[in-house]
Amino acid sequence: MNNIKMFLVRYAEIGTKGKNRYVFEDILCKRIRKRLEPLGHFEIRRDYGRIYVEAHSDYDYDMVMERLTKIFGIVGLCPVTVAEDFTYDSIRAAAIQHFEETFGPGTDNSYNGYNFSFKVHTRRINKNFPMNSMEIDMEIGHDLLEKFESKGLHVDVHKPDIMVEIELRGEKGYIYSKTIPGPGGLPVGTNGKAMSLLSGGIDSPVATYMISKRGVEMEAVYYNSPPYTSLRALEKVEKLGTIVSQYSGPIKLYVVNFTEIQLCIYDNCPHDQLTIIMKRIMFKIAQRLAERDDCQAIVTGESIGQVSSQTMQSLGVIDAAVDCPVYRPVIGMDKQEIVEYSQRIGTFETSIEPYEDCCTIFVDKHPVTKPKMASIEKSEKHLVGKVEELIDKAVETAEVKWLK
Ligand code: ATP
Ligand code: MG
Repeated sequence: MNNIKMFLVRYAEIGTKGKNRYVFEDILCKRIRKRLEPLGHFEIRRDYGRIYVEAHSDYDYDMVMERLTKIFGIVGLCPVTVAEDFTYDSIRAAAIQHFEETFGPGTDNSYNGYNFSFKVHTRRINKNFPMNSMEIDMEIGHDLLEKFESKGLHVDVHKPDIMVEIELRGEKGYIYSKTIPGPGGLPVGTNGKAMSLLSGGIDSPVATYMISKRGVEMEAVYYNSPPYTSLRALEKVEKLGTIVSQYSGPIKLYVVNFTEIQLCIYDNCPHDQLTIIMKRIMFKIAQRLAERDDCQAIVTGESIGQVSSQTMQSLGVIDAAVDCPVYRPVIGMDKQEIVEYSQRIGTFETSIEPYEDCCTIFVDKHPVTKPKMASIEKSEKHLVGKVEELIDKAVETAEVKWLK
């Protein structure tokens, strides 16, 4: 497939943004350019509501595909064969070459060689070509059939397995037939920035991915409790963030030392409220970091009813700790659904590696499931004069790591 010199990038949603459309397209082009930069010399071109990626050097097809299929905003990618001359012979040769490169031996198509039905569909953007669209459809269809019929190729004009698209633009012909799905969503950078509470579990990497998919740039914060949690636990979080960053772009991760705060809560508050109070302080710190970096919201991987700190009452009390929006994209998903999602985006295998989380170390056997705001506030009074300084220190000493 390495003979493919061009890809057509299909995008859907950004096409509906009216005047802003150009802004969205520009950002998508920029994202593509940045991701492909290390892999060769590529030109990213915008042309009449389309984006083309053109290779001007050798490149590794699989590596390029691996990156392109992770760029939010891309719905599909079509490998394109280009007819360099504006003649029927050139288009015919390119169509045959396209079939060989897309469906021939060594390619990863699911049709067992050329054993599929097809139809040709031509669009003349440049009308100066001496044949009309229907004539080109028929002639190219005939020539492809002649070449590949003995290998199983056949025509079906009503429900073809493969639609062969020919576009005549400028002084060239562009031929493509197969669409490799992209992740969809909106290009990162089109919708502000958010601070994700990233733990080593299954849920928060999925939540981070989901918000980023809507075009939001992501930062993250991890609460580390050495020596109760190990370096391996931190490395696991970094690894998860790095996997998500393959889609979202670089993630600025804050590693906050949370041990002293946890011990302070443990020593001063009722143990059945530890998790709730701890979460409230996590949120407060996240909000401080978010404000500092211009993030407009906090993101978590909470889902209603999953554990005691995720009941409706608990979530309400935790939310009340901050005054910025809190987004929980997996809120209505079952665990199994979140697991399947994480398998799809590639975080699952890392998430299930067995390292301890700070939340699990200080948990009570019987945590409250229906905390009352008044009761939590009363308990938190015991922290006054002790915890503020620790929070300031945690924010100030947070270590920054760039995940990419
Ligand atoms: P996850 O699978 O994302 O770890 P969970 O099911 O284990 O979530 P909790 O431990 O209650 O649930 O955590 C709920 C949310 O709180 C997480 O999804 C994450 O956003 C945040 N969180 C929990 N622990 C940490 C931590 N140590 N650092 C940063 N965020 C955390
Ligand atoms: Mg967890």
